[in-house]
Amino acid sequence: MNFIVKNAYIHDGSGSKPYNGAVVVNEGVINFCGTELPAGVNFDIEIDAEGRILAPGFIDAHGHSDISILAAPEAIGKVSQGITTEISGNCGLAPFPVNDLNREHLQELYRRYDVSIDWSDLRGYLHEVRRRKPAINVIPLAGHNTLRAAVCGYNEHKLSISELHQAQKLLDQCFRQGAAGFSSGLLYVPGVFSDAREITALLDVVAAHHKPYTTHLRSEGKAVLESLEETFSAALVAGLERVHISHLKVSGSENWHKMSEVFYKLAHARSMGLKVTADRYPYTESMTQLSVILPEPYNKLDDVSLEKLMLNEAEFPKIKAALKTLSRERWQTSRLVSTAASGYSRYQGMTFAAISEQTLLHPSDICADILRADAAGSMGAFQGMDPENMHKILMKPYVACGTDETARPQGYELGRSHPRGFGSFPEYIKLLLQAGLPMQQVIRRVTALPAEIFGLQQRGLVKSGFIADLVLFSPDLLESRATFAAPHNLSRGIDIVWKSGKITWQQGDL
Ligand SMILES: [Zn+2]
Repeated sequence: MNFIVKNAYIHDGSGSKPYNGAVVVNEGVINFCGTELPAGVNFDIEIDAEGRILAPGFIDAHGHSDISILAAPEAIGKVSQGITTEISGNCGLAPFPVNDLNREHLQELYRRYDVSIDWSDLRGYLHEVRRRKPAINVIPLAGHNTLRAAVCGYNEHKLSISELHQAQKLLDQCFRQGAAGFSSGLLYVPGVFSDAREITALLDVVAAHHKPYTTHLRSEGKAVLESLEETFSAALVAGLERVHISHLKVSGSENWHKMSEVFYKLAHARSMGLKVTADRYPYTESMTQLSVILPEPYNKLDDVSLEKLMLNEAEFPKIKAALKTLSRERWQTSRLVSTAASGYSRYQGMTFAAISEQTLLHPSDICADILRADAAGSMGAFQGMDPENMHKILMKPYVACGTDETARPQGYELGRSHPRGFGSFPEYIKLLLQAGLPMQQVIRRVTALPAEIFGLQQRGLVKSGFIADLVLFSPDLLESRATFAAPHNLSRGIDIVWKSGKITWQQGDL
């Protein structure tokens, strides 16, 4: 199918000045863009985009649609905010390689999607993705946690030399099969058991393939500076070219003052020759498994062991007692986002303090009850970030927008999202424009910048010969309407989204 979008205000993604013109798409590829349409250009369909912006499709620099894309390939939460490509496999959690050591764990973690994880490597996984013809391009990173578990499971364990070699071999195979980079999540089991020797050895493989290393830091709070230190020194020793910090932040009000020191560390690493970039969602509440709220030693268990422990009559009271030691403030700033625990669905979106007021139960008892019924699947949101720091981060020219979310259908059948799953990009664009950044710079951050960070070919620009991943939107109407109470509310203002020239989203009267 050939079509023309004419009278559009074209932002090509490069950051250069926009122009009024037309784009012609032929068989999924842009074959003309400019102000004067040459004679002899054919098209079947004509779209008059008067008053609208045409830009490259937005690239989600940080997504977790690994398995959800198989269950919900239409990816409504993503396409409705203008996304055409997602970098997946983040925070160390990729859906490959899979073997007897990690299959049960992954199957349990993704239980709600009802997808049988029966592939063993990236090639097999990509086959499953392509079979579903998803509405977004899924560009997976290899993930440290999954990789490590494929070598020695989820228990606390230091890798032997031969295990290290095995891990390196597996990572090399991931790259040979097309992984766009390597991610770690050193806060999570089993990445938390790794040391500098292990990370550096794996980064050697990343460096040999000239790929980026993305990391969810070991600590984003108290030890955030030490964690950056750990990241950059391993990267420098390995001779890495690119380091990308996932969802850049400083968590916990007692640590907020460290922000300028964080920026200094990033600048310093850059001065040492590393290309340092980051991503961030435009919200101050994070979301992850609710079980991360558990104090020591329960925060070092994998999902399967935690679920077993929760059902153990002797252990459960101890876990309850541990939860009771958490402060009142913690319950006021922690929110139940979603759970399969029966009787609690009506409290989704509320803080534990608010649920406690309604139920007259202690927040720790509520939390223990939820985790007992659904330790792996329950998700929580945690208010730990400073709005001022967030603005500073978003304004940095090396920070791309990442939803940190999975692809979701509009209904809640696959769980509830953080509002970022439906609203990140319109919200991000609004905040940057409000801060005075010109639209062409904002568009660059959500298109060419992430394409460059992850080495995406023929994507991220409106340019002849590039793949026709495009978004047409109405800048005056653009607005995120997703909230914690109604996280799947669709954004306004995204008119048409094309992936390889095919419409994946359309709303309004065009
Ligand atoms: Zn993460």
